[in-house]
Amino acid sequence: MPELPEVETIRRDLNQQIPGAEVAGVLVHHRDLLLSGWTPGRFGAAVTGSVFGPLVRRGKFLGFPLGKGDARRVMRVQLRMTGRFAIGADSPPPEAGFRHPGIDFALADGRTLYYDDVRRLGGIDLLLPSEWRQMSRNLGPEPLARSFTGKRLHTILAPLKAPIKNVLLDQRRVAGIGNIYASEALFRAGIDPRRPAGELTLDEARGLHRWVRRILRGALEARGTRLRDYQAVNGRSGRYRDKLRVYGRYGEPCPRCRRSIDRLNQAGRSTFFCPACQR
Ligand SMILES: [Zn+2]
Repeated sequence: MPELPEVETIRRDLNQQIPGAEVAGVLVHHRDLLLSGWTPGRFGAAVTGSVFGPLVRRGKFLGFPLGKGDARRVMRVQLRMTGRFAIGADSPPPEAGFRHPGIDFALADGRTLYYDDVRRLGGIDLLLPSEWRQMSRNLGPEPLARSFTGKRLHTILAPLKAPIKNVLLDQRRVAGIGNIYASEALFRAGIDPRRPAGELTLDEARGLHRWVRRILRGALEARGTRLRDYQAVNGRSGRYRDKLRVYGRYGEPCPRCRRSIDRLNQAGRSTFFCPACQR
């Protein structure tokens, strides 16, 4: 949380307001939000005077291209559990419910871009464009890209012995999928989350691929899933929660067979599944 649909929703929201804006100053409230050894002084100096380009996303990473003269950087943001953005004039809009200021970016046009992070598990750093590309190469394919096919997913899974659920969460295999949509896609595809990834047949991989994409597209259309912490820019909510079939529904009847939804722990995360429908 947030996963691809939530990060992409935030990217689209910010993209309507941020490109072309110049950073007039930076206020870092919590230096532990700066990753990769950046100090508030160095970060502020590098960012101030830069102009934002159109935002990009890779997996769950948000990238803010910054240009200052000939210098190019990408401000990389990892929202993790509780990172959020808002844009306001003198303070974040009340509907954003911000109480844990992290980093404020004063813009030359009088607005401020606010980053708020209650648990501070996320963070921000600055990369060279070449470093962003390198990071991108180390991640698995984007599941909504045209080049990501069922056959490609099968090729990725074939050599792996780890449970399929864990592989879906591994950003080096496929980028952008997290706990919620992995559980949902495996349920819809009828695949037991404990099965070794390499044992899936080509047909099963194709079915899973189809459901991964359908679910991510549906969640994107609904602007994401709001459980506890996720919110889009300025406190806007996502509506996919009502569509979840198994995630967070331990003990409730399976929508397909009415048997109780079960829960198990895989790699420290809860997996929700139907023991009867998923084989
Ligand atoms: Zn069932």
